[in-house]
Amino acid sequence: MGRRPVDASPDGWATQLSSASNLTDYDEARRDFSWAVAQRFLSGLPDARGINIAYEAVDRHVATGRGGHVAIRSIGRHGTRELTYRELMTLSNRFANLLRSLGVGPRARVFTVLGRQAELYVTALGCWKNTSVLSPLFAAFGPEPIRNRLLLGDGEVLVTTTSLYRRKIAPQRDQLPALRHILLIDAPGEPPAGTIDLGTALAAQPDEWTIPATSPEAMALLHFTSGTTGTPKGAIHVHEAVVAHHVTAAFALDLRPDDVFWCTADPGWVTGTSYGIIAPLTHGVTLLADDGDFDAARWYQLLADNHVTVWYTAPTALRMLMRAGTEMAARYDLSALRHIASVGEPLNPEVVVWAQEAYGMPVHDNWWQTETGAIMISNYPSMPIRPGSMGRPMPGVEAGVLRCGDEGRAAVTDGQVEVLGADQVGELALRPGWPSMFRGYLHDDARYLAAFAGGWYLTGDLARIDADGYFWFVGRADDVIKSSGHLVGPFEVESTLLEHPAVTEAGVIGVPDPIAGEIVKAFVTLRAGYQPDEALRGELLAFGRRRLGAVAPRDIAFDQNLPHTSSGKVMRRLLKARELGLPEGDLSTLERPR
Ligand code: ATP
Ligand code: MG
Repeated sequence: MGRRPVDASPDGWATQLSSASNLTDYDEARRDFSWAVAQRFLSGLPDARGINIAYEAVDRHVATGRGGHVAIRSIGRHGTRELTYRELMTLSNRFANLLRSLGVGPRARVFTVLGRQAELYVTALGCWKNTSVLSPLFAAFGPEPIRNRLLLGDGEVLVTTTSLYRRKIAPQRDQLPALRHILLIDAPGEPPAGTIDLGTALAAQPDEWTIPATSPEAMALLHFTSGTTGTPKGAIHVHEAVVAHHVTAAFALDLRPDDVFWCTADPGWVTGTSYGIIAPLTHGVTLLADDGDFDAARWYQLLADNHVTVWYTAPTALRMLMRAGTEMAARYDLSALRHIASVGEPLNPEVVVWAQEAYGMPVHDNWWQTETGAIMISNYPSMPIRPGSMGRPMPGVEAGVLRCGDEGRAAVTDGQVEVLGADQVGELALRPGWPSMFRGYLHDDARYLAAFAGGWYLTGDLARIDADGYFWFVGRADDVIKSSGHLVGPFEVESTLLEHPAVTEAGVIGVPDPIAGEIVKAFVTLRAGYQPDEALRGELLAFGRRRLGAVAPRDIAFDQNLPHTSSGKVMRRLLKARELGLPEGDLSTLERPR
């Protein structure tokens, strides 16, 4: 392979990367990449008026003759609805006109408390067209987390459903003086006092809209983190981020215009926005929007009926599918599937191996955060996967591992940090400079500044890099357990327990111990048919000892309902707080039934 790709467009780069047959080829393909060049492969607003996410996601396709292609197929309890790119353009134009007619200006915060319904996409795109700022929240949030985020984020507009409004917002509306407009997507006829029916209001708006000049640095998104380790933070993202969304979706997710793409993430989580809305639309794909709850059989049916080609999901869902069994997967025609990727939590090697058996292809793990806005480390489509590894850095991303101090975070001496070599565990860090890098935590500059040292952004995760440049997740700095002089990453212990046939999910924490400092305690969820009795406990403890030696769990509890965040992560800090009888802390993102 030559040093310079023939076709230097992101798609050309993607082809180059996917045809690379060894790591040296990957590294060559990476070397010539620059974000400045990548930016040229999005159109930018006409007449060089900057870059706007909604233009790249929608209007651009209409301008190039793909307006008739289906952009969104939304499915779920609200029925099925398809919107072409042209229809999405018109509706989002009307939404932008509506915002203007309500006096909602640039930079104003537009919140959604919605599932994956067509109106969500119209709102997001229309909001960006008006250069207002989108902040999507989980519909499953209770009244308090909604109020806290609306207050912290200075919410001016809220788009939601009548029932969510009545249950969660109306009772506390007097506490939200800055919230000027409430748009309900399903209140034709007589909307509740002080609200507007969105459909009626949109129908009255003109179809045309000229996107105003948009600075690449204009704020576009306010995204709250999952709150796995504490109070959620409001990460600020700008319009330029779309360059990273587009490029990483080509490289890591292998997206092409004729794909049917399903990202199972809720828009209240950054994955549901970066890859549930923006990236797929910039590629002109048909995106499947499912508003239903997880159910193994229903999910397989969706994959089969819609001929999904690329599927982006999360470890917790994959573990549940694994629990449902290989035989169930075999009952559905998944032949259209070409690529499966996962994010959000460590992907257990057991799951990668099982997927190969059940789907005939592995799952491609990738790593990123609300703060990074886009995939940073990934298993590229044709890269040899090492089960359990997050993969290697994306083109344009420099990642390293820094030596930690006593508190388990990167040690900073006189503003300097030390980059570790192969196979040493330290804090995962990134060199700032990619377009979707967050530009701040809203109203919390101190916390933002504290996330940087020695020219690196510190991620708060611990990792190691092997001799071939593959990254291995060790744990969150807060979750790592120190036991008898060993540093134990809960992920490794959890993954080992998952290899036992009785176990489908595990959460591992450190419990204080006078001799060892901390001992490892595991909470495990059992597969159907296994009894949570002393015999099984003994067997699991012995299994752990055999496989893990000194870092094996010393105590095992059975728990069929491990606490998860709304974005599907095991909440270890809650397991720990309960174990130690400590305050449970901020539980706003604890997954609860709707
Ligand atoms: P908070 O920052 O509020 O505690 P959070 O970190 O869970 O919440 P997100 O931004 O949604 O919020 O999640 C990013 C984190 O998720 C990463 O820092 C990492 O800990 C974890 N993560 C994401 N992808 C992976 C992966 N592939 N492997 C392991 N961990 C992952
Ligand atoms: Mg985080």
